[in-house]
Amino acid sequence: MKNKKQQLSPVINMQNIQKHFSGNGVETLALSGINLEIYPGEYTAICGPSGCGKSTLLSLIGLLDGASQGSYQLNGADVSSLNLNQRSAIRNREIGFIFQNFNLIGDLNVFKNVELPLVYQSVPAKERKERVEAVLARVGMSERMAHFPTQLSGGQQQRTAVARALVTDPAIILADEPTGNLDSEQGNAIMSLLDKLHGEGATICLVTHDPRYNNYAERQINLLDGKIISENITDSSVRLNKKSA
Ligand code: ADP
Ligand code: MG
Repeated sequence: MKNKKQQLSPVINMQNIQKHFSGNGVETLALSGINLEIYPGEYTAICGPSGCGKSTLLSLIGLLDGASQGSYQLNGADVSSLNLNQRSAIRNREIGFIFQNFNLIGDLNVFKNVELPLVYQSVPAKERKERVEAVLARVGMSERMAHFPTQLSGGQQQRTAVARALVTDPAIILADEPTGNLDSEQGNAIMSLLDKLHGEGATICLVTHDPRYNNYAERQINLLDGKIISENITDSSVRLNKKSA
C-alpha cells in the first residue's frame, strides 16, 4: 500500500536507468535496470556494499552525470538528455549536494563558499549576504564566516558544506557518505541537521557507510551489483529510538 507521501507525484522518477563506464580497456556496467520513484518529503537511504553503484546513482539523481540509457524525470520534467550546462542550471536550483570530502573551495572563506551558488543564480549582493548569514547561523557557523577551510575541523567544514547545499533552498538534498570523514560526535551533529531538514519537508537521499544511520531514513533501498535488489521501510519505533543508538 502506498503511504501518504506516495500519493503525490514523484519528485524523482527514474525508469530503466543504465550507467556504463568505459576507459583503459575496462567496461563497467555500474547501474542497470534502475526503476526508482522518490516522493516529496521522503527520506531515503541507498544501501549496499562498496562498488555496488551507490555514488553513481546519487550522482545521476543529482545531475552531476547523465545516464547511458533510460528516462529520468525530476519534478515532472524530463532531464534525461540535457547537456552539461542545462544539468548544472537545474542542479543549482533544485538540488543541494553534500559530499564525504566536503568539496569546499580552499581559497574561499566560509562566507564565500556558501555564497557561491547564489552568485551563480545572480542573486543581488544584499540578499546574498542576508541568506548566507541566516544559513550559517542555522548550522552554527556564524563565528567562523571569515575562516578558510584549512582552519576548520572536519565537522565545521561539513557544516559549511551543508550550509552551501541549503543556501539555495533546494527541494532535494543528496548526501554521499556525509559523515565518512567525521568522528562520531561531529557525524551525529550532521545527521541531526539532516533529520531536522527532513522534518521541515525536505526530500533527502542519503548514502552512508554507517549502518546505524540508515535508520534515520524512512525507506531503505538496497543495491547490489548495480541493481536494486530490495527495499524496506524503516520500522517507525526504530526511527524514533535512533538518537539513543
Ligand atoms: P559505491 O558508491 O557503491 O561504492 P560507485 O558508484 O562509486 O560505488 O561505483 C560503482 C562501479 O562503477 C564500480 O565498479 C566503480 O569502479 C565504477 N565506477 C564508478 N565511477 C566510475 C568512473 N568515473 N569511471 C569508471 N568506472 C567507474
Ligand atoms: Mg560511493
